[in-house]
Amino acid sequence: MKKKSIGCIVQARMGSSRLPKKVMSIIYENKTVLDCVIDQLSHSKLIGNLVVATTSKKIDDPIENHLQKNGISCFRGNENDVLDRYYQCAKKHNFETIVRIPADKPIIDPLFVDKVIQKFLESDIDYISTFHPPSFPIGSEVEIFNFSSLENAWKNASLPYEREHVTPYLYNTKKFKAMNYANKKNQSSIRYVVDRYEDLLLVKKIFSKISKRPILMQDILQLFEQEKSLFEINKNIDYDGKNMYKLLKKLYPICRSITGNGTRKTLKIISEQIPLIIHEVPTGTNVFDWTIPKEWNIKDAYIKAPNGKKIIEFKNSNLHVLNYSIPVHKTISLSELKEHLFTLPKQPDAIPYKTSYYAENWGFCMSHNQFLKLENGNYEILIDSKLKKGSLTYGEYYIKGKFEEEVLFSCYVCHPSICNDSLSGVVLAVELAKYISNLKQKPNYSFRFLFIPETIGAITWLARNQQKIKKIKHGLVMTCVGDSGPSTYKKSRQGNSEIDQTVISVLKDSKENFKLLDFFPLGSDERQYCSPGFNLPVGSLMRTMYGKFPEYHTSADDLNFVKEEFLADTFSKYLKVILKLEENYGKFTSNNNNKIIRKNKKLDKNDHVFLNLYPKCEPQLGKRGIYHDILGQNQDFVKEKAIMWILSFSDGINSIKDIEKISKIDINMLMEASSLLCEKNLIKEITN
Ligand SMILES: [Zn+2]
Repeated sequence: MKKKSIGCIVQARMGSSRLPKKVMSIIYENKTVLDCVIDQLSHSKLIGNLVVATTSKKIDDPIENHLQKNGISCFRGNENDVLDRYYQCAKKHNFETIVRIPADKPIIDPLFVDKVIQKFLESDIDYISTFHPPSFPIGSEVEIFNFSSLENAWKNASLPYEREHVTPYLYNTKKFKAMNYANKKNQSSIRYVVDRYEDLLLVKKIFSKISKRPILMQDILQLFEQEKSLFEINKNIDYDGKNMYKLLKKLYPICRSITGNGTRKTLKIISEQIPLIIHEVPTGTNVFDWTIPKEWNIKDAYIKAPNGKKIIEFKNSNLHVLNYSIPVHKTISLSELKEHLFTLPKQPDAIPYKTSYYAENWGFCMSHNQFLKLENGNYEILIDSKLKKGSLTYGEYYIKGKFEEEVLFSCYVCHPSICNDSLSGVVLAVELAKYISNLKQKPNYSFRFLFIPETIGAITWLARNQQKIKKIKHGLVMTCVGDSGPSTYKKSRQGNSEIDQTVISVLKDSKENFKLLDFFPLGSDERQYCSPGFNLPVGSLMRTMYGKFPEYHTSADDLNFVKEEFLADTFSKYLKVILKLEENYGKFTSNNNNKIIRKNKKLDKNDHVFLNLYPKCEPQLGKRGIYHDILGQNQDFVKEKAIMWILSFSDGINSIKDIEKISKIDINMLMEASSLLCEKNLIKEITN
């Protein structure tokens, strides 16, 4: 029988770090999450009164307005001291027995709640709960306590945690008679609380599959037995980033490059988690304008000071060697050595990461502080490397969906001990691939994950898979996803494709700061996917972008720079993107994706339009002597930038003045670059 003194307080607020406004999210028809909680609890035979307790902040006004319309009592109280909010609310309504239900449990079972109330009333106890430890499904939790215990806690609890979470003082301090109502078998792996976006999708599905009201726990368990695949959507998720970080730590010490055994070893470790197909493409194979280079492997390297002491050792840090160094073993003077040393005077403690893939060279990298201490004399140097015919290795994992249209995730496996740039994207890709492959119900899209060396790997894949390219409907390049910075989204060259819109909506929904960048033809492999001959809708969702953090391409981009929590946060954003693409499958219509700036516009007298003669991927500039040989950190080569912009946007439509507008590069520099490209037969002028 209902008793006025048995009151249920449902705590609700609009703010939520993981899913803002979740309590007002629609579950079915016009029912919100909060409405569902109230509807479910209205079937209780024992609860005499129900009040929703929210905060007195303005942001929560919509909750009170909504409740007023539906004739439900609302109590406004302290935002962070939720214990005070409960106490004041219970006191005002003269509750003797208080049932506590947070509003993120829209399928709370009223008969189960009654059972727990019954148990509480029968037993001589102050507090009962159903989740210390959890044994019932997550989303079914009930807590009940009496007013005098609540008052005692309200007077004595002092830790912020105890005030914010209402009941820790009741079950932790051993001052109260507390009981756990336990399940006969542990069903806590089933989860229908609404904490995250993927939970909301599951709960919507449960409400659409079960038409009877109220929905009882046994109904959900029955549905679980019949349709286990439904419940996969919020399972197998690396919520705390621990799996990703563990893999990162394992991969970090390996000396990788664009070819060689470091990359093979990396792919082998990844294969322990997902069934990668590993491809080997022989040295000398032509891929568009490029040729697969010789394979590079290294055993050891050091510099011995005049006193015979090794001052640089490869085994201490693989960044010490210019990546792709040719073998060398000789004794040389300090001045000759200095021509092969790379340091960062502005970051004197960090070792720079430098490469010389396509111009044979050798070199060492060291901290500038160490460099300053070098004494005159003869130095013995050794680089025990091999640069020989071999192959380029990459890994690919394809998950077949219901349809052939693909979502492409691309990350690169060519950086040695560098964490945020490169490796963070790799571990995120592995975790997402695991999640998708664990789904029992086939996704609509097929998913392709590429683990490739940057630039040459993307070019190789595109060259070898031209017939598959048209199936790629969306894509993201994954890198720089584990640092503490806010999210950055670099749009695809199309700029307004479904992937662009989807990522932007996910970032907007997050209510966090984020940066949005228009496409530019420098950066990572989006350069190749978005080259004018393909113009694929591939963007890049990062945190702090490459080149924008001082640790970039240095030894400071290490295991401390990347944190579990940021990997987990990026994971949940990628997951939202995937789930939104899946939800919208077949619904998106685009009118004109191509970002054509100067359509049907008359050309100015002294303007020019060029056509890129190598539109598929970038042409190899190095072999034509128009690209710097040593790649590394924070370079600002204006002419090279101008060259990249012209190649990327000279599709026969955009003019030099259009490119000036979007690139913000001086027109004289663009003209200079275009005449160089004409001279090298990479572009030609179009005259009409
Ligand atoms: Zn890099």
